[in-house]
Amino acid sequence: MVRAVVGANWGDEGKGKITDMLAADSDIVIRFQGGANAGHTIVNDYGKFALHILPSGSFNSNVTNMIGNGVALDIVQLVKEIDEVVKKGVPKPNIVVSERAQVLMPYHKLFDKYEEERLSDRQFGSTKSGIAPFFSDKFSKIGFQVWELFEEDRLKEKIKNVLEVKNLMLEHIYHKPLLDADELYSTCKEYAQMVKPYVIDSVSFIHDAIKSGKNILLEGQLGSLKDPDFGIYPMTTSSSTLAGYGAVGAGIPPYEIKDIIVVVKAYSSAVGAGAFVSEIFGDEADELRRRGGDGGEYGATTGRPRRMGWFDCVASRYGCKVQGATRVAFTVLDVLGYLDEIPVCVGYEIDGKVTRDFPTTGALERAKPVLKVLPGWKQDIRGIKTYEELPESCRKYIEFVEKELEVPIKIVSNGPGRKDIIFR
Ligand code: GDP
Repeated sequence: MVRAVVGANWGDEGKGKITDMLAADSDIVIRFQGGANAGHTIVNDYGKFALHILPSGSFNSNVTNMIGNGVALDIVQLVKEIDEVVKKGVPKPNIVVSERAQVLMPYHKLFDKYEEERLSDRQFGSTKSGIAPFFSDKFSKIGFQVWELFEEDRLKEKIKNVLEVKNLMLEHIYHKPLLDADELYSTCKEYAQMVKPYVIDSVSFIHDAIKSGKNILLEGQLGSLKDPDFGIYPMTTSSSTLAGYGAVGAGIPPYEIKDIIVVVKAYSSAVGAGAFVSEIFGDEADELRRRGGDGGEYGATTGRPRRMGWFDCVASRYGCKVQGATRVAFTVLDVLGYLDEIPVCVGYEIDGKVTRDFPTTGALERAKPVLKVLPGWKQDIRGIKTYEELPESCRKYIEFVEKELEVPIKIVSNGPGRKDIIFR
C-alpha cells in the first residue's frame, strides 16, 4: 500500500507532524521531490527537530527512509542532519539514497544567491538552498546523478565541461570568482565517501517492497500552490509538489498510490513573494503569527516571519483537487481559539466578478478576497481527544471547511505534539 502526505497550500501546513505519525505504521518513508529548502518541524519524545532533507520516518527505527531520485540531494546537509538526530539520542536512522538522485553542488547555492542579488527588488525570495539552479541543470542535462560520483575519469571530464559554462556565467553575468575544476573534483570525491554507505538501486528496492506488501509513505514538501505547473508560477518552487509526482520522484507505479492525505492548515501562511489573496497585515497579522504553529510562524529553514492570512477556501479546494486528495488532515486548529470571529475567504473577486475557481497568476494578482465570518469558539482545544468534545462552533468551522474543500476531513490536529490528534 502506498500513501502520500502532501500540502494543499503554500507549505508549512504541518505535514511533518502528520508524516511522523503515519510513519509509525509505515515500512518505508520516501522524499520524492524538493531538497533541503523547506523544513518540517517535528516534536516527539526525543525533542523538537527541524528536518530539511531527512525523511520524517527517521525517528522510527523500524522505518527505512529513502531519498528518492526526484530529490535535490544536499549530501553535506544529509550527513549533518543524521549526526544531529543521533546526537540528540535518536537511534541512527535507516537511510537509503537512490543512485539516480542528483547531487546538489556547492555552486548551485552560489548561483541561487548571485541570481537573487542580480534580481534585487524583483527577487523570488529564494531560501538560497540552490534549488532553482539545481533543477535547471538537471533538465539541461548537466546535473550529476549519485552514481557519477563513483566513476572517476568520467566525473573529471564532466566537471571540466560543466565548469566551462558555469565560469562564463560567473565572469560575464555575475562578476564573481571562478570555479576550479580540481577543487570541485576533490569535493565530489568527499561527497562520494559521505554518501556511499547509503546508495542503493532504488527501482529494484521499491518494486520488491511493493511486491512484498510493504507500507510505503511518500512525504511531500511545500504544497500545491508552490507546484511549478499548478501553483502561482513563477513564484513557485522548481520541482513538483504533487502526490502524482511521487510516481516519478520515487519510481513507483502511479496506480499504486492509493491514499493521498492532503494537509490543510486552519488559517493561511506563506513564505516568499507571490499573490496571497487572503493575506492580512498589521496587528491582526502579528497576533496570528505570534500565536501560530508551535512558537510562532517563522520559516523552519530561514527563520523569516511568514506572511499570514485567513483560511482560503478557493486556494485550498484547488490545492486538494490538483493533489487528488482522498482525505484531508486539518491542522493547527487550536491556534484560532483566541478569536471572537473567524473570517474565511470563500471567493475571489476578479475584474468585478466573483469566482470559486483558482485562477492563473495574472488574474490571481488582481483578486480581492470575498470573506465570510464564522463564529469563534474562544476556548483552548488542546488536549481534547474526540471530535464530539470539540466546542460546537469549532465543529461548525471544520464542517464548513470540509464542505468547501469537497474532501472529507478525517484527521484534525489540535496541537503540535504527536498525541494532539483527533480522528473522525
Ligand atoms: P510542514 O512544512 O508542513 O511540515 O510544516 P511545519 O513543520 O512548518 O509545521 C508548522 C508548525 O506547526 C510546526 O512548528 C509544527 O510543530 C506546528 N504544528 C503542527 N501541527 C500543529 C497543530 O495542530 N497545532 C499547533 N499549534 N501547531 C502545530
